Amino acid sequence: MSTNNVLTEAINSASAERLRTTLLSICSQSVVAHSLACNQLLIPNEPSGEPEQSAPKRQRTENFRVRYATCVQCENEFDTLTNGPESCKWHDGELEIDENAITWDDWDEGSAGERHTDFNEKEFPEGFQWNCCDVQGDQLGKGCMKGPHKS
Ligand SMILES: [Zn+2]
Ligand SMILES: [Zn+2]
Repeated sequence: MSTNNVLTEAINSASAERLRTTLLSICSQSVVAHSLACNQLLIPNEPSGEPEQSAPKRQRTENFRVRYATCVQCENEFDTLTNGPESCKWHDGELEIDENAITWDDWDEGSAGERHTDFNEKEFPEGFQWNCCDVQGDQLGKGCMKGPHKS
């Protein structure tokens, strides 16, 4: 196996936290890596409307903002460059137990525990229903609300 393959494997198997620490460390060790990371993760701020000459040169080059953010509505990462009026679909309500779902047919709260837990929402989304639109819990991507992603 070439070093490249091993590195790919290492990157794929590392935790997000490990990759974060690694990237920060690489950026602090190499000016090139730092500028590559800036190109990937930052975008220039929209012009503020003030004439460019009025800002000192050094300040202008620092006028960047974060490109990728996590949406508070759909909980996905999104690209602020391509974020449009219909990019995000989400639900405005809460998940409730769907009493008709087959998930709960053999569920005995005495032995299996409480039904409405965060774990079950993730593990058995089909056993829940959004109270905003009565859509099943496994249809997060088919949210009843539509708009731009919000960070
Ligand atoms: Zn909904
Ligand atoms: Zn979103």
